[in-house]
Amino acid sequence: MTGGGRGIGRAVALELARAGADVAVSSRTRREVDAVAAEALALGVRAVALVADVSRSDQVAEMFRQARAALGAVDILVSSAGIAPSAPFAKTSDDLWRSVIDTNLSGSFYCMREALPTMSESGWGRVVSIASIAGKTGYPYIAAYAASKHGVLGLMRCAALEMAAHGVTVNAVCPGYVDTPMTDASVARMTQKTGRPAAELRKYLESLSPQGRLMTAEEVAALVVYLCRDEARGITGQALSLDGGTVV
Ligand code: NDP
Repeated sequence: MTGGGRGIGRAVALELARAGADVAVSSRTRREVDAVAAEALALGVRAVALVADVSRSDQVAEMFRQARAALGAVDILVSSAGIAPSAPFAKTSDDLWRSVIDTNLSGSFYCMREALPTMSESGWGRVVSIASIAGKTGYPYIAAYAASKHGVLGLMRCAALEMAAHGVTVNAVCPGYVDTPMTDASVARMTQKTGRPAAELRKYLESLSPQGRLMTAEEVAALVVYLCRDEARGITGQALSLDGGTVV
């Protein structure tokens, strides 16, 4: 479970634990992954906290080595690690572009490349990437983010076809705005840039969904856990929106 220290990743790690899965919880912040692993342990499963930067393929390889050493074969991969800085298209710097592509797209690729061979050898596996509705449609000021999430859907579709005959499903969940620390940070950034009050900007983000609300991390987690179940074995290569009808 990458990005497991907070937000959607934390909710998925705990929901997987509630469903009885052992979990390796990873991100770059030791304090956060330790806390989530402790919560998972308290739910009665085995859990390990791992520190790794997914934009570094060497760290991803080491993360998988440690996860396997602690818990055995990795048969579920959920990639939630991600960053979402924004900038007007022409002001998207090389650094911003690279950091978003390296984290959101290359990070997902490195993890899938580590996970898929042993899943297909064992004849069972589940990969779920947390993409975004920005993987399906464009928005102003997030060119790098939207490009990275469109890329995640491309990776997912190719891997799903390669894995289809091997008992491994590969899917993506595409949330609209979710009530997590990432959205809090986006609101804070917009407040700083526009001078508009945070409450007003939050209302604006809520209004982007026809349901007039932010999604919750728990809703995303429930869908991810469903996709990991045996009864979801027919669902593969799909980009499932969870956005209150924003992109239809
Ligand atoms: P948060 O910012 O709340 O959490 C992001 C997690 O990713 C943290 O645990 C963070 O930990 C980790 N992370 C970030 N960069 C790296 C890195 N280089 N290596 C390893 N871990 C990293 O975000 P959310 O939970 O809201 O978002 C999770 C995913 O869902 C992201 O991919 C995001 O793009 C996507 N999403 C979010 C939406 C939203 O509205 N919140 C909407 C649609 C999609 P640390 O910084 O300690 O490494």
